[in-house]
Amino acid sequence: MKLSQRVWGSVGAALLGAVVLAACGSSTEGAGGLPTLAPTITALPPVTPTDVPEPDPIALPPVDWDDVEPFRAAMRPAFAGDVDAFVNRNRYYIEASLAFEDGVAVIRGAQRVRYTNRSADTLDQVVFRLYPNLPALGGRMVVYQATVNENPVEPGLTERETVLILPLDEPLAPGESVEMALQFSVAAERGMNASYGAFGFQDDVFSGPEWYPVLSVYEEGKGWWMERASPNGDAVYSETGLYETFLTVPEDFVVAMSGTEIDTFPAGDGAKTVHYVSGPMRDSLLVASPVFGRLTDYVDDIAVNVYYWPGGESAAERVLKIGTDAMRIFNEKFGPYPFAEMDIAETFNFTGIEYPGIIIIADRYWETGNANLEVTVAHEVAHQWWYSLVGNDQVGQPWLDESLTSYSEYVYARNVYDDKRAKDMQDGDRDWYNFYRGQGAPDLVLDLPVNSYVDNNYGVIIYVKGPLFYAELETLLGRDRFLEAVQLYFERHRYEVVQSVDVLNAFEDATGEDLDALFYRWVGDFPGLDPAVVEQAQQQAEQVQ
Ligand SMILES: [Zn+2]
Repeated sequence: MKLSQRVWGSVGAALLGAVVLAACGSSTEGAGGLPTLAPTITALPPVTPTDVPEPDPIALPPVDWDDVEPFRAAMRPAFAGDVDAFVNRNRYYIEASLAFEDGVAVIRGAQRVRYTNRSADTLDQVVFRLYPNLPALGGRMVVYQATVNENPVEPGLTERETVLILPLDEPLAPGESVEMALQFSVAAERGMNASYGAFGFQDDVFSGPEWYPVLSVYEEGKGWWMERASPNGDAVYSETGLYETFLTVPEDFVVAMSGTEIDTFPAGDGAKTVHYVSGPMRDSLLVASPVFGRLTDYVDDIAVNVYYWPGGESAAERVLKIGTDAMRIFNEKFGPYPFAEMDIAETFNFTGIEYPGIIIIADRYWETGNANLEVTVAHEVAHQWWYSLVGNDQVGQPWLDESLTSYSEYVYARNVYDDKRAKDMQDGDRDWYNFYRGQGAPDLVLDLPVNSYVDNNYGVIIYVKGPLFYAELETLLGRDRFLEAVQLYFERHRYEVVQSVDVLNAFEDATGEDLDALFYRWVGDFPGLDPAVVEQAQQQAEQVQ
């Protein structure tokens, strides 16, 4: 997700304007303050989501979980072999339909999911997350039938129906797999007013992050992740898996989803079914609309698609240029993007939000010359490396993806423009941070959960102090060694979930430097940090007091 004025709260509009201009604008962009916003459709007040009448169950065919051939189509040819390691990871087979009915976008779906216990613990339950039920998403998801190994089970619901617990009759030993089937419906009432405007249905556009029940994460020694996400920040924490989806929509719908469309066929009654497969991805976004136009360009063999609304053509060309530049630069500097496709869609969201293989950009930025457009697109593209490929708990450790992604904006600016542009951005961030501190706001460490930051602390610490930490590392190590460390971090952890110590280890292993003290100063204490460093720092702090 990209930071916005709203997240910044009271930081100050004048300063925001200055920083945004330093970040991405030429002198002609948004001169004199905030960029002019495009006229937007008046937001409708939110309504209480209602249940969709229970549909007839969808008869799902058996799935041959050993066959991963179809998923290679979602990969660049050189990375087609990556899917082999995911035979026994999270596997989803989904059949669903999407229709717009009387002001409500409705999904009726069913999925077979195979989960393999990769922990050393024996499990007696499997947990899914029903993200649309989060107040921050403002939708409604109901699971009305569930089976485990073909036997009906009664799921438990908790955390305001955002956690669905399937009890296992037979304990799941380490290395064993279980197959589950869920029948579900999702409703998005008109309007996208909840939180960041990620989920909803407005003016013939449906935006559905995590539009199906998503496997949660089992953490050894801690149990299943069941935390209800804070309204701030991103809500999802999930592990990588393979998705095969058959989605039926009206014939005139243009669909954009995580992964690659490999087939479309008529489904009768003016409908069609699109067949999608994914590479190893940790969740899925579905965006669909009959009004979308589409532009495509390529970076090597990666297709970059831009989906835009009527009237958005010229900005779409600009977005395509920014998106392909960002893909090319991050591919070269961080490591190769392995998927065949990356989509960028215009939606009603508040700034920009990242999902595997697809990002959404706010319509209010969608105009050529908008000062926020470039930096937001570059930011969300960088999330393909930091979040989608190298994953983390976005609720518990938001710095892991957001701070490195925000730093990546400097890398984009340096390579599209010059060093001065990147330095101006850093200076702008430094000014911003000093302004924040000057207000008496606390100098918090980076590695804290989203909900431990109050007011605008979250935005400033994670999105401003965070990239400045990486800039400090870069100054200390030199640009080449810094990038070697980033590349090692990416190569080691792509498709996986990282902790703070993984960042430290990658930088120390790549450079041979001892960086524990520097990490402690900026990131804080975390498992894996040298305890002697922590002890010494605490003693010094006590002496000062
Ligand atoms: Zn972000």
